Parts: sequence; structure tokens; C-alpha cells
Amino acid sequence: MKLIHNFKSPNFNERKSNNIEIIIIHYTALNSISSSLKYLCSKKNKVSSHYLISQSGKIYNLVSEKKRAWHAGQSYWRGNTDINSTSIGIELDYSPSEKNNKFSLKLNSALIFLLNKLIKKYKIRSENILGHSDIAPYRKVDPGKNFPWQMLENKKLSYSPQLINRVDFPNHLINKWFQKNKLNSIKKKTLFMLNFIGYDISLALKNKIYFNKLIEAYSNHYKLYKNYYYNKKKIYDVIELHFLNLILTNNRK
Ligand SMILES: [Zn+2]
Repeated sequence: MKLIHNFKSPNFNERKSNNIEIIIIHYTALNSISSSLKYLCSKKNKVSSHYLISQSGKIYNLVSEKKRAWHAGQSYWRGNTDINSTSIGIELDYSPSEKNNKFSLKLNSALIFLLNKLIKKYKIRSENILGHSDIAPYRKVDPGKNFPWQMLENKKLSYSPQLINRVDFPNHLINKWFQKNKLNSIKKKTLFMLNFIGYDISLALKNKIYFNKLIEAYSNHYKLYKNYYYNKKKIYDVIELHFLNLILTNNRK
């Protein structure tokens, strides 16, 4: 698959880190590839991404991987607030409210091709293949609830928590640990674990609307039920499994 270099964005600067360790997936929310090219390459908009993938599976390289493209905005992941400096941004030609409202087969295969290439090149961990909504859950919803995370998980291109042997980590031990740390409500435990996974929980701690947005961002990525209050237990179980997976694999940098 060839990359297209005919369009370049002037919107970038120097990275403040030499490590590229995160990939952020976005959608453009614009109605066509030509509007997206125009928008991302126009100086006045002050936004860009390294790559843009069209509905027909064409991959446009708009900013050199060496440079810091401007796609993440105000964001947070595991303490890092300058995601643009440590990531590659991929925009998808998709808008939930226009004709390009499907993640087409061609777009998906181009994305898989590009992810494979980047993951290999930069040795990016599957945990760090994220959506814009993961790193800015209170502001952003892209790549949206219909983005095929499952497809990426099946190809080992993004992370999904694995079932673990609960004999190794029995409930009473976890509960004792939560009690010791004064995490005595489901909400507190949920927020603690989401923060450990990587999410910014600052606004969710203070306000129920933001808390729901955070749960929605997590649920959209890990394909859970939308309404936290109807499916509290189920969502909690997945977050707990995710948390335990990370603790047990003990491979965090
Ligand atoms: Zn975005």
C-alpha cells in the first residue's frame, strides 16, 4: 500500500520528546476526504494529523512522523499531558452525520496496514493504541461508538483485558486492599482503577455528568453497555478485570 504525499499540512512543530509511544485514532467529522484535506492543510485552522485515511482506503501523509502534529489538543494519558509530542495521530474520513458515516472495509484495511507498520516501527504497546475520547473524555467523542475496536483487538492491534484465574487474585484480597486505601464505594473504586489504566479522572471526581462521560468513553472503547446505571456491575467487572490484568502482567514502564 502506497502513501500519498501530495498534500502537506503546515500545522506542526518540533516534538518535545524523542519517544513515539502512543497512537491516537480520530474521525474528522467532515463530509468528505476533500474537505478534510483542505481543513487539515489550512494554516488558519491550526490542526493537523500525521495521517488521514479516506473511505476508499487511501492513506495521506500530511505531517512527517518526526514532527509534532496538532491533533490531541488538551489531553491526558497516564500523567502525560503533551500527547502530541509522544504520539502519531491518524484521522479517519468519517462523520456520524454525513454520507461518510460508515467505517468502510477499505478504510479499515488501510488502517490495519498503517497500524501494523507503525506498531512495528516504534514498538508501540497495544495498550497505547487509543481513541481521542480516551485521552480527552470530557471534550471529545471520536472515533465514536461505532468504531470497530473489536476488529483491532482480534488482530492484536489494540488492547483487550483477558480473563484471569481468580484463584491467583481472590476477591477478598482485592477488597481488603481497597478498604485499606479508603476506596469504599463502587464509584471511588471505579475512578481509582480508571486512573490507574490511564484516564484523566479530575472532572469525573467532581461532577456526575463528567463521570458519565468518562464511563461512556471507556464503554465505547471496550464495547460495553452505554448506561452505567443500568449496567453498573457489568462495567465495574470489566474495569476491574482490566486493572487486574495490568497489575498481574506487571509490564508497565
Ligand atoms: Zn479527534
